[in-house]
Amino acid sequence: MKESSSTTIWRLRWITGPIFKLFKRVTPAMSQTEREALEAGNVWWDGELFSGRPKWGRLRKVPPPKLTTEEQAFLDGPVETLCSMIDDWKITHKDYDLSPEVWQYLKDNGFFSMIIPEEYGGLAFSALAHSEVVLKISTRSVSAAVTVMVPNSLGPGKLLLEYGTEDQKNHYLPRLAKGEEIPCFALTSPHAGSDAGAIPDYGIVCKQDFNGEKDVIGMRVSWDKRYITLGPVATLLGLAFKLYDPEHLLGDEEDLGITLALIPTDTPGVNIGRRHMPLNMMFMNGPNSGNDVFMPLDWIIGGQDRIGQGWRMLVECLTDGRAISLPALSVGAGKLASRGIGAYARIRRQFKLPIGKFEGVEEALARIGGYTYMMDAARLLTVGALDRGEKPSVISAIVKYHLTEGMRKIVNDAMDIQAGAGICLGPRNIIGRVYQAVPISITVEGANILTRTMIIFGQGAIRSHPYIFKELEAMGNDDPDASLEEFDRALFGHIGFFFSNTFRSFFHGLTASLFVMVRGKRPVRRYHQQLTRISAAFALMTDLALMTLGGSLKRKEKLSGRLGDVLSYLYLASASLKHFEDNGCPKEEQPLIHWVSQHCLYKAQNALHGLLQNLPNRPVAWLARFIIFPLGRHFSPPSDNLGHKVAHLLITPSEARDRLTKGLYIPDNNTETLGKLEQGFNKVITADHAEKKLYRGMKGYKQNYNGLDDLIEQGLKKNVITEEDAKLIREADKARTDIIQVDDFAPDYK
Ligand SMILES: Cc1cc2nc3c(=O)[nH]c(=O)nc-3n(C[C@H](O)[C@H](O)[C@H](O)COP(=O)(O)OP(=O)(O)OC[C@H]3O[C@@H](n4cnc5c(N)ncnc54)[C@H](O)[C@@H]3O)c2cc1C
Repeated sequence: MKESSSTTIWRLRWITGPIFKLFKRVTPAMSQTEREALEAGNVWWDGELFSGRPKWGRLRKVPPPKLTTEEQAFLDGPVETLCSMIDDWKITHKDYDLSPEVWQYLKDNGFFSMIIPEEYGGLAFSALAHSEVVLKISTRSVSAAVTVMVPNSLGPGKLLLEYGTEDQKNHYLPRLAKGEEIPCFALTSPHAGSDAGAIPDYGIVCKQDFNGEKDVIGMRVSWDKRYITLGPVATLLGLAFKLYDPEHLLGDEEDLGITLALIPTDTPGVNIGRRHMPLNMMFMNGPNSGNDVFMPLDWIIGGQDRIGQGWRMLVECLTDGRAISLPALSVGAGKLASRGIGAYARIRRQFKLPIGKFEGVEEALARIGGYTYMMDAARLLTVGALDRGEKPSVISAIVKYHLTEGMRKIVNDAMDIQAGAGICLGPRNIIGRVYQAVPISITVEGANILTRTMIIFGQGAIRSHPYIFKELEAMGNDDPDASLEEFDRALFGHIGFFFSNTFRSFFHGLTASLFVMVRGKRPVRRYHQQLTRISAAFALMTDLALMTLGGSLKRKEKLSGRLGDVLSYLYLASASLKHFEDNGCPKEEQPLIHWVSQHCLYKAQNALHGLLQNLPNRPVAWLARFIIFPLGRHFSPPSDNLGHKVAHLLITPSEARDRLTKGLYIPDNNTETLGKLEQGFNKVITADHAEKKLYRGMKGYKQNYNGLDDLIEQGLKKNVITEEDAKLIREADKARTDIIQVDDFAPDYK
């Protein structure tokens, strides 16, 4: 304060000081769990999107993620073999479990050790490789993919790596790597689902004789958990509970907070084994409980020093798992639908045409293609960031929410296109089980409604905004002078930021963003200009919402959900444009990038519009509408013509189609559905020319009861087609007849 100029002193006293007091009064107190969640992870590209002026060059410089030779070999070797061993129908309908051979293969080949370093015998894979493995397996069997996902996600392995003591790491990590231990992690209780910080499970610090030793200080823990994946077969239970020390055996404090421990499941008093049936996904999942189970303090992950740090440990580790597993599974569904259902739409004919050529079906196909491209791009950008050491917690919530929601849309469209063939379950059906898996992805790792309305913007506004976190930190500083000065700097930076975004939103709105200075070629350059305009409008609306609603914005989830949507569409569009550039801006991929960019701009605009319609302070909303949309809303959804081009891409062989569906498992045979679809698709395409000749040449001819056979015979007689044409047409028809079959079973089949 002493070194400040007289103007600054005046400003601190008459402007910043009163505002500081007001802010302190109106800012809602943050709970410990909220603070820990907010402090977890770091800010990355989300910070640029919040800035109102994203530096596109910075994103362009980010190298696209790349697999190492070993990782690629694992995908081409053990993952291919595993996929060929998996029979999803048998898992989900007959055995209700993976086969013993598949379990053993998973253990023997390190599938449970992708995140464990080599020194402990693990595979030490990158986030990209991890994502590719889960993606590929998920296109074969969601149950198998979830089984692989869980030990590599938030659970004992990850927690041990980050916080375990050396003894714990040396003991457990090699055993986990070899599959000698099957881990699970139990947080959810019947009374605490989304509000996991409120778990009623507890431990009491006490003394007891243990393993022949007298008066060992430990904990007597009681819990009742449910929905725990791998729980029924786990040998190692990661457990979250609240620890209390009423006899003060450890110190003055009684309520020590959420603590995490690792418990061998053969410990007396641990109840595991019963299972839930999560919508016919036959991965192991079930409840577990314990009553007054004694365990020594060195079972706490990280030892006694980590008592009470459980919540922080969980939220810090959440980013990686949330950004990898479910996004990979969702993109797997997108690729499966783009390739498999795209092929089906070309093969299946109604009204003498492939159904994929009807405009109504085209709409659904365009969504499948567009969403898959967008989701894959977001997946790759995010795992690339993780591999460079970023911990983008807000972005991990965006991809968890939007990729699983994208999966829901894609799978619904795929079901509509397959119609009856999607509904009748059996080994031939490739989409029915994926459809059943959707609500699981939506619910786990942060249920989606909560993730959209509370987490994305709630966490983003504080963490990714260039000034709010600084202002909050300044308010929390114990030294009053330093606190006021810090607050002053953040506040005046914030004011400048606000006016800059106001001016830029208005100017870019008036000039259709044409004067936004960005480098690059069309179409990327033009979309970067428009996204910059949306980013400025988003930054302005964030400030206006916070100014007019203050702490109550936290409860206005419909508004914060919309703000989260704008941020999310900015991320999804920027990832897609980057993906397009990383692929070398191929011409044949243009329909996809146009579709995705226009979709995201339109959705972001709608979210802003919804926000303006519902902001409680109406004069501020009117003024903001005039600034943001001075000439009205001008982004439209992708046109019918563009949708047609995307749909065409899914039903026609091309490099763009191959790139869009890269990473999918395609059986190399003509006995399994995806293999049949692949081969049938090629036959139908090869016969296309001959079929067209036949139908054109025989126009007006009425086929007899022999249908196509008769038409071919007559076509040959009239020299409309050659013998070679006839052969191609017959082969395509044979493949089509096989592909459109659905399974049927004996009346007493169970
Ligand atoms: C198949 C499966 C596997 C699982 N695996 C594990 C596991 O291995 N380990 C583990 O610990 N847990 C696991 N879970 C639990 C999972 O994390 C929880 O189901 C999830 O946290 C939601 O809790 P809930 O089901 O009790 O829903 P609830 O908390 O009852 O929520 C119900 C609805 O309310 C919404 N909601 C709640 N609060 C808010 C809010 N403040 N604002 C807006 N919306 C809100 C939610 O989004 C949801 O839509 C699993 C669950 C399933 C189904």
